[in-house]
Amino acid sequence: MGVMKKAPRSQAVKTPRRAAVERHALDFASGWDYAPALETVKPGLREEYGMFVGGRWCRAADGGETEIINPATERVLTRVAAGGAEDVDRAVKAARGAYEKVWSKMPGRERGKYLYRIARLLQERARELAVLETMNGGKPIRESRDIDVPLAAAHFFYHAGWADKLAYAFPGADPRPLGVAGQIVPWNFPLLMAAWKIAPALACGNTVVLKTAENTPLTALHLAQICQEAGLPEGVVNIVPGGRETGAALVGHPGVDKLAFTGSTEVGKWIARETAGRGVPLTLELGGKAANILFADAALDQAVEGIVNGIYFNQGHVCCAGSRLLVEESVVETVIRKLRDRMATLRVGDPLDKNTDIGAISSREQLEKIRGLVASGVEEGAGLWQSACRVPERGYWFAPAYFTGVTASHRIAQEEIFGPVLSIMTFRTPEEAAERANNTCYGLSAGIWTDKGSKVFAMSRKLRAGVIWANTYNKFDPASPFGGMKESGFGREGGLHGLRAYVAL
Ligand code: NAD
Repeated sequence: MGVMKKAPRSQAVKTPRRAAVERHALDFASGWDYAPALETVKPGLREEYGMFVGGRWCRAADGGETEIINPATERVLTRVAAGGAEDVDRAVKAARGAYEKVWSKMPGRERGKYLYRIARLLQERARELAVLETMNGGKPIRESRDIDVPLAAAHFFYHAGWADKLAYAFPGADPRPLGVAGQIVPWNFPLLMAAWKIAPALACGNTVVLKTAENTPLTALHLAQICQEAGLPEGVVNIVPGGRETGAALVGHPGVDKLAFTGSTEVGKWIARETAGRGVPLTLELGGKAANILFADAALDQAVEGIVNGIYFNQGHVCCAGSRLLVEESVVETVIRKLRDRMATLRVGDPLDKNTDIGAISSREQLEKIRGLVASGVEEGAGLWQSACRVPERGYWFAPAYFTGVTASHRIAQEEIFGPVLSIMTFRTPEEAAERANNTCYGLSAGIWTDKGSKVFAMSRKLRAGVIWANTYNKFDPASPFGGMKESGFGREGGLHGLRAYVAL
């Protein structure tokens, strides 16, 4: 990354009503830069991948394939089989066979051993998986290395522990598996979402057909290799990469006993309508438009760090990203100054470089969506500030940005942007803060920053969000349930609540 240009510190809050675009960066580096620190591990990428059905690797019945692109270079990484309805059918039948013959009959103690083995293999192959996740999705290696892969392993460890203790998880009940679980994941946390879904399903004695997102199937396919290496009985886990039609085939398959979906609210609603009346238990983890609420009494430097982590982390490709910042009016100028200073130090560039903070946007389509929403913010009269950091010529990039002068009716205050763009608003009283935070159709997560514990409790009772962080943001743990309210979906993943979704009592 090149040296940043010096820019005036001005016009932070009061921006003109029309199309005001500031592109500033502070000269934090004073003429020097970090040397590149590239991750050098080769991830064992194959020239082509099949799908994993019944313990075997196979091509799609119609021979369909998808080219997988590295969003940081726009180069083709590999080709992956793209499953269709016939492949989904084969996978569901394989999962049914494994459920009836082996997995549902196996004592929890034995199932737990497989899960432990998978968890350990994930740890052993952590570097390879982190590099693969970064090459496929564009997220910085620091995040795939420190967040995605360790958390994926932690989910298998956690659920391995439950496999033989389900009677204690639901005392007085007789927890039984549901059967074949159909699971659909999005592109933003490919390995982690697969682990969130597969680990509890297996721990409870279900078998799985997992559909990956079309453009990010690689780590889930390497997880399938790990399942093979762990000696998991054939058909217990089946992975079918593919797009919308593949997902729809899984949703509509009569052999599926449970559906778990993570993705957009639009598709989640469609799935809810499709499955209505079929009696298939459903969990939906959908979109979000989280508010970080910053009170004047908070430790501002820490809060700014948390806000930066909440929205610029993983390029904002996070369902629970703190994409709205509500700041108590008396400190807004200070907060924006601190935020801008910090943002100017964020490094955008090669995701395989360990110094990179913000990697590539995961696809051209997503980049266009971000650009479109940002243009609407400018058009509607909000003031845009964007870091002037240099970005590579090839690949999909969006320099971190924030909007001021945002009102509740702006699209950037209501729609999920799924990019490194923050919308800043102000409030005067806690009641106003809660009202503004709740003024969205979503209810996935929120953050509260204050020095007063009592304020945290009072605010969290008012906020309509499934996950609320206090004086921190984006912290995850397998023991802690995660999920939304309102149009962010229903059901929880993680913890005892997450297990409940995979058993009949
Ligand atoms: P998306 O809904 O377009 O796709 C998600 C998955 O569903 C993909 O695998 C896709 O192929 C599949 N799909 C698409 N149409 C389908 C259909 N008709 N039937 C069945 N499957 C179908 O979402 P996306 O753009 O890939 O992912 C981003 C969205 O996911 C964002 O809205 C984000 O907030 C959400 N998300 C939510 C959580 C959460 O835990 N709440 C976590 C991560 C992402």
